[in-house]
Amino acid sequence: MPQKFDYILVGQGIAGSILGYFLQKAGQKVCIISASTLPSSSQVAAGIYNPVTGKRLSKTWMLDEISEFLEHFYRNLEEELSAKFLYEKPIYRPFRSIAEQNDFTARTAEYNMGDYIQTKTKGLQNPYLHEPFGGLVTSHSGWLDIPVFLENISKVLTIRDEIFEIEQLCLEENSVKYQDIEAKKIIFCQGFLGTKNPYFNWLPFLPVKGEILNISLVNTYFDEILNQGIFLMPLPDGSYKLGATYNWECLDNQTTKEAKDELIDKFKGVVSDEFTCNFQQAGVRPATKDRRPFLGLHPVHKQVGIFNGLGTKGVSLAPYWAKHFTEHLIHQKELHSEVNINRFYPLYLEKLV
Ligand SMILES: Cc1cc2nc3c(=O)[nH]c(=O)nc-3n(C[C@H](O)[C@H](O)[C@H](O)COP(=O)(O)OP(=O)(O)OC[C@H]3O[C@@H](n4cnc5c(N)ncnc54)[C@H](O)[C@@H]3O)c2cc1C
Repeated sequence: MPQKFDYILVGQGIAGSILGYFLQKAGQKVCIISASTLPSSSQVAAGIYNPVTGKRLSKTWMLDEISEFLEHFYRNLEEELSAKFLYEKPIYRPFRSIAEQNDFTARTAEYNMGDYIQTKTKGLQNPYLHEPFGGLVTSHSGWLDIPVFLENISKVLTIRDEIFEIEQLCLEENSVKYQDIEAKKIIFCQGFLGTKNPYFNWLPFLPVKGEILNISLVNTYFDEILNQGIFLMPLPDGSYKLGATYNWECLDNQTTKEAKDELIDKFKGVVSDEFTCNFQQAGVRPATKDRRPFLGLHPVHKQVGIFNGLGTKGVSLAPYWAKHFTEHLIHQKELHSEVNINRFYPLYLEKLV
């Protein structure tokens, strides 16, 4: 007898875990298939969420909607699972020049960002920090310990730890069958490995490899997350995550000396303390060409869907868009046009010919 589920999800990174959680909350029976032997960007990420983005410090996309939602979501889940994984922390960004300070102060007012950023004219006043022009600090920012989060949320999910073999998937008229499982729909939440999925390989992914170091500082301590070209993020054990690199050419999970040197060079430009390197990690971010996630059902096979493309911002995007996708799947609520994969329908048609 086949085991019956409403949904099969493939992938238990942050995308699959949170989508599975919302579907279950909506009364659906969910089975997640995910292999701990395969790479996962969520296991490598620093997990930072930040209201400003890019060199020009612009407000992140849909900040007002997403910011409040994500903090509530993770905090409530900490309570529900009796665990700690969300660390609300200011991010301190030293200004590079007086011109940047002036430009930024003007634009903060322009974008109505007062709730999220304050200028810190005198800086942190840490003698090991290069900050001659002061800087700015964010609120509604911090980091999620993603591995701890995934481990805890997995306790309330049904997970099979194995590689999903797509050749064994059978599409029935209104359902799918995979080995001994039958379900109404299957949703692929595979991160970077989703670029190879034959149902969705027409979507314009733009994956980017990232490397990150774990370091210890010898003389000083930072309580804030520092951010200027690199980030330096304090961990509960006293060490720091130092990241991250961006490489669009080489999309493997191997750590490299080049990335380590690049991170150390940038670090030395901002902090003058001695340090030791503890370990290095690499992963591939599932980014997209238009920097928006991929949500939706296949143009022809409506029993097959995708939740992917969280790019560099899985922590902030996953809760909001997983809830949105759940409302679409269960209550047929229309998908937001900027995330709906039907925005790329012409690419699907091109692939057919
Ligand atoms: C160096 C680095 C730093 C980052 N820093 C941040 C940050 O500070 N803040 C932030 O928000 N984001 C950050 N990110 C991005 C973040 O990691 C991603 O946005 C997010 O983790 C993507 O989650 P996901 O669930 O879509 O993919 P993944 O975490 O990759 O999960 C996909 C899962 O699917 C599984 N899977 C795929 N195919 C199969 C199959 N056939 N069978 C079984 N299992 C399968 C994989 O093994 C994996 O477990 C960073 C990424 C990197 C690499």
